[in-house]
Amino acid sequence: MSKPTVAIVGRPNVGKSTIFNRIVGDRVSIVEDEPGVTRDRIYSSAEWLAHEFNLIDTGGIDLSDEPFLEQIRQQAEIAMDEADVIIFLVNGREGVTVQDEQVAKILYRTNKPVVLAVNKIDNPDMREMIYDFYSLGFGEPFPISGSHGLGLGDLLDEAARHFPDKPEEDYEEDVIKFSLIGRPNVGKSSLVNVLLGEERVIVSDIAGTTRDAIDTEYEYNDQEYVIIDTAGMRKRGKVYEATEKYSVLRALRAIERSDVVLVVLNGEEGIQEQDKKIAGYAHEAGKGVIIVVNKWDAVEKDEKTMNEKTKEIRAHFLFLDYAPILFVSAKTKQRVHNLLEIINRVSENHSLRIQSSILNEVIADAVAMNPAPSDKGRRLRIYYMTQVAVKPPTFVVFVNEPELMHFSYERFLQNRIRETFDFEGTPIRLIIRARA
Ligand code: GDP
Ligand code: GDP
Repeated sequence: MSKPTVAIVGRPNVGKSTIFNRIVGDRVSIVEDEPGVTRDRIYSSAEWLAHEFNLIDTGGIDLSDEPFLEQIRQQAEIAMDEADVIIFLVNGREGVTVQDEQVAKILYRTNKPVVLAVNKIDNPDMREMIYDFYSLGFGEPFPISGSHGLGLGDLLDEAARHFPDKPEEDYEEDVIKFSLIGRPNVGKSSLVNVLLGEERVIVSDIAGTTRDAIDTEYEYNDQEYVIIDTAGMRKRGKVYEATEKYSVLRALRAIERSDVVLVVLNGEEGIQEQDKKIAGYAHEAGKGVIIVVNKWDAVEKDEKTMNEKTKEIRAHFLFLDYAPILFVSAKTKQRVHNLLEIINRVSENHSLRIQSSILNEVIADAVAMNPAPSDKGRRLRIYYMTQVAVKPPTFVVFVNEPELMHFSYERFLQNRIRETFDFEGTPIRLIIRARA
């Protein structure tokens, strides 16, 4: 189900990232702890009371090569393109500035709802400072304080009032949704073209669908697929779409809606930080992941090259040790036809369910092989394990004292599960709980 998206817009220093972090809270990033992967705080899922939504900090989208007015314009346009509701943030301590007016002027052009928030109203005595901002033409300003966490509830209630009534209808459960993500120019749209052109696909044209025409639905060998955000991959022209962080944002949104993510690398080039970031998001989101090395035709190679490249990838993407790697060429179409088969397999693993009785045999064997750790005379006891979710497969392990579980032992249990079942291509998650 796709969640509504809220974007925060405003000139620099009004407190956009402060508000973003406040709302998002301290969601701990799994990937942040993995070596070599850093995280952009520009996009995150968030919750407020009963509302779930995605939040974008457009200020975090780096457009620094552009003059100020152009940056603001592009950030506002990204918000207008991507969001269901826009929060227009201003600084209550400075009153209306010329730059606020410039932002306002751009936002007048959107028919999306805009909620005006006046930040840095740190105490109730300052509330009268908001009246100035009626002049911006967005109705009642909401006083908030990012640093003190004040007023955010009212602001988000107002934003939520404008969320689309019904969430967009999602695809049927047995449709495999996948996306291709990667840096610009690695060959994503070329691969999509080969997939669509070569596999004798039927591109369905569903009448009356409310979705933007951004996904491509098709069927092959009796299996239905949707390529998520095909339009985003193909869309060209707007200046900001060339910017790195915008492409990350776009990728994040595609990842979120996918079951399986194809992380596309350019085989001609070494692995870059950006590749790792993007892949890290797919992993963290718990999606099935396939690493696709494209442009393999252009690589000068001998019998060792593929092995060496595989090693390089494994060394850089330690957290994706479960992801299959496929070497393809969109240009010569080499091995592109294998992609769907691997997508099917990974998708199946991603929603695999294992019976508790079998899981508990695995646990019993694992404990016999490698006794559970103890600490200061207390030994971890594992009572039982059960699978509580798919996409990705998620297991709850019931123990006597969760603090006694070591990371390394958890890893060992994960490995035993992987060795026993075919979870190729999918992350798996363990949750350690005290038995009630
Ligand atoms: P951005 O450029 O719009 O993302 O702004 P930042 O979030 O980086 O904030 C700019 C500055 O304003 C920082 O020094 C913040 O600490 C400060 N700031 C943010 N929110 C508040 C607030 O509610 N009250 C006060 N007094 N300062 C704030
Ligand atoms: P995207 O930005 O990731 O969608 O990349 P494109 O599909 O637009 O491809 C970028 C460039 O790489 C284009 O000039 C393509 O012709 C070229 N390209 C894509 N795939 C291949 C490939 O497999 N081999 C070679 N040699 N070039 C490719």
